[in-house]
Amino acid sequence: MSKADKVIQLYNKYVMNTYKRAPLCPEKARGAKIWDINGRSYLDFFPGWAVSGIGHCHPLVANAVAKQANKLMHVSNNYYSQLQARLAKKIVEESFPGKIFFANSGAEANEAAVKLARKYGHDKGKYEIITMTKSFHGRTLGMISATGQDKVKKGFEPLVEGFTHIPFNDIEALKEAVNEKTVAIMFEPIQCEGGINIATKEYMRETRKLCAELDIIMILDEVQTGMGRTGKMFCYQLYGITPDVMTLAKSLGGGVPIGACVAREKFQDVLAPGTHASTFGGSPLVCAAALAVFEAIKKEKLLQNTKRMGVYLTKKLEGLKKKYHFIKEVRSVGLVIGMEVGIRGEDIYKKCLDEGLLINCAQDTILRIMPPMTVTKTDIDKAVSILDGVLSKV
Ligand SMILES: *Cc1c(COP(=O)(O)O)cnc(C)c1O
Repeated sequence: MSKADKVIQLYNKYVMNTYKRAPLCPEKARGAKIWDINGRSYLDFFPGWAVSGIGHCHPLVANAVAKQANKLMHVSNNYYSQLQARLAKKIVEESFPGKIFFANSGAEANEAAVKLARKYGHDKGKYEIITMTKSFHGRTLGMISATGQDKVKKGFEPLVEGFTHIPFNDIEALKEAVNEKTVAIMFEPIQCEGGINIATKEYMRETRKLCAELDIIMILDEVQTGMGRTGKMFCYQLYGITPDVMTLAKSLGGGVPIGACVAREKFQDVLAPGTHASTFGGSPLVCAAALAVFEAIKKEKLLQNTKRMGVYLTKKLEGLKKKYHFIKEVRSVGLVIGMEVGIRGEDIYKKCLDEGLLINCAQDTILRIMPPMTVTKTDIDKAVSILDGVLSKV
């Protein structure tokens, strides 16, 4: 029995079976490379499910965490933490004037955004929040209610009231859905779990206009698209608009659990003392990590690399599309890339794993390829050649 098999045996006995797991047991990693417990190495083109956006164990992040762990890991939120203050300032400087609430995950960041919206609308009798079909906002009871996919809701009814789902990129559907009870609209600028569906410029601008006119809070869930992966620090910056509220998590901490809800000035004081809290939220340990992520992006010019490598990888995938008739479309923004293969993606993803390449599959037929922002041409050439080999055999 291999070392990995022994771990899998323990999982089968002691860990709740809530995930479909691939038979891989990583032990260490760096950048786009990951080694399993049996000693085999893999090229990771979906590091940490978009958490390790600047690559696994980035040295700046690893050192910041190690240093902070020996100094002060946690401060309760009834005191002040210098690192939380500095991180809040940094996020505001990179986005828009406002204030931050710190949480520990994407779902929690979205919960904060939704509670902010509910509180804002409460005295006017407004509480409805419009979200999109094929969206994904997390797995708390509130966020499965917000998410526009039946598969996450099934079996957990009754759900939280007040969410309406409409088709994405359909401004008429939005206009129709808005009513006197609507307080907010929440969506991802790119639906990643939904299969890499990209908001159009028109949709974003029209939505922004409508929200301003009707005093509706525009919430963008940038949990997966934030922190540089699109070539801009935040995806909304590609559209020339500013949301009212933005949520972040995944790669914000470079590997440690952190979430953030960013509210612009008009909404920054809606949540007052006693209305919302998180015990772990914004601890010195995770804030030190997130500050190091911002530092790494700047120091190593990772936004530029993301843009360049995004174009390079997309071109290569377009090449595969020409070669294999079954591939329907390649959709990409920076290093957020989806390849609609038109056949079962799970088989392809599993064969890539066998060949030493980690990717992901969303919505059954869409390969999700999101290498770290530090990725090189050499990595890309290797990954595409593995994928090419796998595709040639289907
Ligand atoms: C992953 C994700 C979430 C949920 O984040 P968790 O940290 O798993 O709670 C929410 N929204 C989007 C867009 C995501 O990609």
